[in-house]
Amino acid sequence: MKRFINIAIDGPAGAGKSTIAKAVAKELGILYLDTGAMYRALALKAIREGIDPNNSENVIPLLERTEIFARNMDGVQHTYLDGEDVSGLIRTNEISKGASDISAIPAVRIKLAQYQRDIAHASDVVMDGREIGSYVIPECDNKFYVTATVDERARRRLKELHERGQDLGKTVEEMAVEIAQRDHNDSTREFAPLVRLPEAILVDTTDLTVDEAVAAVLGRIHREEV
Ligand code: C5P
Repeated sequence: MKRFINIAIDGPAGAGKSTIAKAVAKELGILYLDTGAMYRALALKAIREGIDPNNSENVIPLLERTEIFARNMDGVQHTYLDGEDVSGLIRTNEISKGASDISAIPAVRIKLAQYQRDIAHASDVVMDGREIGSYVIPECDNKFYVTATVDERARRRLKELHERGQDLGKTVEEMAVEIAQRDHNDSTREFAPLVRLPEAILVDTTDLTVDEAVAAVLGRIHREEV
């Protein structure tokens, strides 16, 4: 059986995972899969239907009647919710919070992780998420843990939201509190939490430029498989 190159980039919110993962995928000419977008799409559906993303009793039946899939078009991921391209609707702060809540429900993770695993078993792919190396594809030999200080991540999130025209009027300190709350949710959930695996290569992006962070990852990939 052909072994595909699978690269897992895990870490907390706002550390730069998706920027790095996209650049690495482009450099290697392979697929990039943003797994967070899938949790975001499901959170969007729950919010649209007036369902609290924390309420597993209501989310589970919703999950059963939901189709989420990702398609790569010219190197850009489009995320579909029941056939609708929701890529432009899932980057708000409300959805970030909803995705963090909904992702703590084990049935949600089981369904989305299976879809992600199927992709990894059928193609060369760079995936970013929280538990790609520990739960989705634990057999993968290229695992990275990308992080940065909470303040730096808060600054980046505010800048990103500002660039999208979503000024929240929040200070860096307020955003840092929210991000720390998401870190806490992600790392303390019982099922498949965010963890730094001993075998994952640590990339702290606090003082790195994007190019330096990308080079740090590319330099450590087992290239013989590419
Ligand atoms: O990475 P992103 O911020 O888009 O992810 C949104 C939320 O989805 C995260 O806060 C996290 O709670 C959840 N998530 C997850 N597992 C993944 C990807 C995202 O739990 N593999």
